[in-house]
Parts: sequence; C-alpha cells; structure tokens
Amino acid sequence: MHYQIDAFQMRSSRRPCGARMIGVDKGYTEALTDSEGEHHGTRLGTLLAAESDRGKERNRRRAKLRSIANNAARRGDHAKAHRITVNNLGQVKRDRQAARHRAQVRTEIFTAVHRVVDKAATVVAEDLTKSFAGRKRLGKNVNRRLAAWTKAITAEALANVSERRGSAFVHVNAAYTAQACHRCGRLGRRDGDRLHRTVCGVVWQADVNAAINIPRRAGDPDIALHTPHQRVRQILQDRTDRHRTRLPVQDSRPAPPSGERIIPTAQH
Ligand SMILES: [Zn+2]
Repeated sequence: MHYQIDAFQMRSSRRPCGARMIGVDKGYTEALTDSEGEHHGTRLGTLLAAESDRGKERNRRRAKLRSIANNAARRGDHAKAHRITVNNLGQVKRDRQAARHRAQVRTEIFTAVHRVVDKAATVVAEDLTKSFAGRKRLGKNVNRRLAAWTKAITAEALANVSERRGSAFVHVNAAYTAQACHRCGRLGRRDGDRLHRTVCGVVWQADVNAAINIPRRAGDPDIALHTPHQRVRQILQDRTDRHRTRLPVQDSRPAPPSGERIIPTAQH
C-alpha cells in the first residue's frame, strides 16, 4: 500500500506548480473546494460513508460474537469460547481492510491536493493541524474520528505536496470564512452546504464561498492568524456596519505580530 503512494508522489514531484494564488476549504464530501469553485477529491465522501457503515456493522457483529463466547465460557464450554476468540474476533482481516481503506483515502486526498497545486503558486488554507474540538472529546463516534483523521491527512498532503512542487503554503485565520458572504461581507446562515440570507439575496454554495474568502485573509490588515474568533466576528460586523451607515472607513489597525494575545471582546 505504501509503495503505491510513494510511487505516485515520486512521479508527481517533477510536475511544476501553477502560477496563481488559490484558496482551499477542506470538506467532507469532497477533499477540497478551491477559490475558483472547483471540487477536488470528490470520492472522499463515498469512501468515508462506506467505511463508517463497515465500522458500525463490524462493531455490531463483534459484540454479538463476544456475547456468544462469554456465554459459552460461563457454561464451561471453554473450547468454543476459545475458538470464537481466535477465529472470529481476530484482527487480521480487519487490519487488512483498514489498511486498504487508509490507502484509498490518502490517494484521494493527495490527488486532490496535486490538482490544486497544478494551478497554484501559493496555496492558502486554514491551519488544519489545529483542532477546535480537541482529541479526547472524539470518543467512539466513527464519523467524528474519520473527520479528524482526514483533516490530519489533508494537512499533511498540503504541506508535503507544496514543498515538493515548489508552491508556497500559507496558513490564515479561517474564522467565519464559511459564514461571511464573499460579496458583501455580511454574516449569513449556514444550512448544510448552503449559505443563506445574505444581503445580496443570493444563496451561495458554502464551501465555494469559504474558499473564496480564505485567500483574502492572507492580505487582511486586521485579521491575523491568531486573532480570536470573537474578535474576527466583531471586525467583520464593524466593516459591514460602516458600509451600511456610510461612515468613512477608518485606517485599519496594523495586524498584530503572530502569537500576540488579544483579549476577546465580550459576546453580544
Ligand atoms: Zn452578500
């Protein structure tokens, strides 16, 4: 499995990167959506759904077998209990299926990133190595674990492919990029894959809208990589309020140096 991926990566490492600045938004149905409206890695959702179903069915079957083995042991039929444990609760087949699935997902995601780098001299994305939820809260939920895992692979692929093909890879603060209308800047309501009720009266595809907003953050004078979530919301609201009341736009605050902590403004 590893050899297939390595060979693929070796071939592609000789391909030059593109010439444009491209923003990407990480999805679940597809690996990436870019700021030109293209979806990449569109088989990802199907692969993950199939694995999620397999995982749940596997857990159900194993629980049933474990209970049969336990009952047999209680009755004193230790031979049967042992047979089930060795033959039916083994790891070998499961490990083989899991390795195959991992390889398919990696190939889908790496291929998606290559398609983006074909066009990009600079790839702009949120820092996918930072997890908002934190690891321990993922628990046994199959879908959440799969989502966290694909996020990590996407982060790895973006860094790795960019480095090998010579594109710059830039992290930006992606807070509210999915909710703010890329045309008027107002916060809309996210409903599944749609962004509704923007002042423009248009319903955007949420991931495309986010991917368009993301590269703009690279040049945003007010929103730095570590600007807190709530502060970002306030900045976005101040901008649209200024626009609405036609007040002169004040000079933008200089972006704080990376790592500087700003006390988040109170919720409103
Ligand atoms: Zn709008």
